Amino acid sequence: MKCVRCGLREAVHEGLCEYCILELHPPLPPGAIRLVVCPVCGSFRVGGRWQEIPLEEAVLREVEQLLDPRYALLGGEVKVEDSRVRLRLTLDVYGKRAEWEGERELRIRKEVCDRCSRRAGGYYEAIIQLRGAHAEEAANVAVREVESHPSRMAFVTKVERVRGGVDVYVGDRAAARRAARVVREAFGGEYKESSSLYGRRDGRELRRSTYLVRTPEFGPGDVVELGGRRYVVEAMGREFLLRDAWSGALRKERWEALREARLLAKAEDVVEGEIFYVGEGVAHVYDPESGELRQLPAPPWARRGKVLMVRVDDEIILIPGEAR
Ligand SMILES: [Zn+2]
Ligand SMILES: [Zn+2]
Repeated sequence: MKCVRCGLREAVHEGLCEYCILELHPPLPPGAIRLVVCPVCGSFRVGGRWQEIPLEEAVLREVEQLLDPRYALLGGEVKVEDSRVRLRLTLDVYGKRAEWEGERELRIRKEVCDRCSRRAGGYYEAIIQLRGAHAEEAANVAVREVESHPSRMAFVTKVERVRGGVDVYVGDRAAARRAARVVREAFGGEYKESSSLYGRRDGRELRRSTYLVRTPEFGPGDVVELGGRRYVVEAMGREFLLRDAWSGALRKERWEALREARLLAKAEDVVEGEIFYVGEGVAHVYDPESGELRQLPAPPWARRGKVLMVRVDDEIILIPGEAR
């Protein structure tokens, strides 16, 4: 049956085609499209929820809210020109696709969003406490992790340098917890969670959580002693990769096994030297500091040529691996 109004297209509802229905019942009310934007972060509030979306998308979402319930929005194009917006909507009209074009006034009001007002007020739910030799580096990782968390409240309130490390204050507990765990995966070390009551609101307990990561005193390139053997740290994290300075063999250890490890020398103290002769189990090297000739027990991997070495007190430790 053809449309009773235009006689051109098939009728889809009550004798009318989709375009005649759209003409008789415009999809949007004639008034302005009103948006609320946060002047601090640029988020828009649409349908009662703050969202980090571009202006055009915010318009489209608001259009969806205002849309006559006869129709469903399948897609749309939005062009904003000053305080007007040109719309091209693809709509479902009783099972048929139809295009609709129109123009509306655009009014944008400013209001600080929930996140920015909390942030400005110094709000936080958790503190990530970073300690140990890698505290600074770990704090950078923690901040990055918090900021990439999907929760809107996952912001860093402040970063504070304190005795022994860095404290990172975080607006969202779950984000803080995840970040602390990522740090621990990356650096290893001690990890502790705790929480304390700091007040009540509407009968609910308000808690603040603390996530402590004490990063190890040593890291990649450092030389450590463990169980009477010397190792070069090749990689750190939940598992450490250690190279036995004597045998050259690699060994993987969880952090828990390294609690007793003692730092012998930092990576920056490792220098390049030279083995000029190996024989009878003895390596002949020049002392990198005094220039004196020294004779050391030769590790099985030792060959004539350039070698990495480090002086610990009066002892020289030869280090397997490429001389840089
Ligand atoms: Zn028609
Ligand atoms: Zn905001």
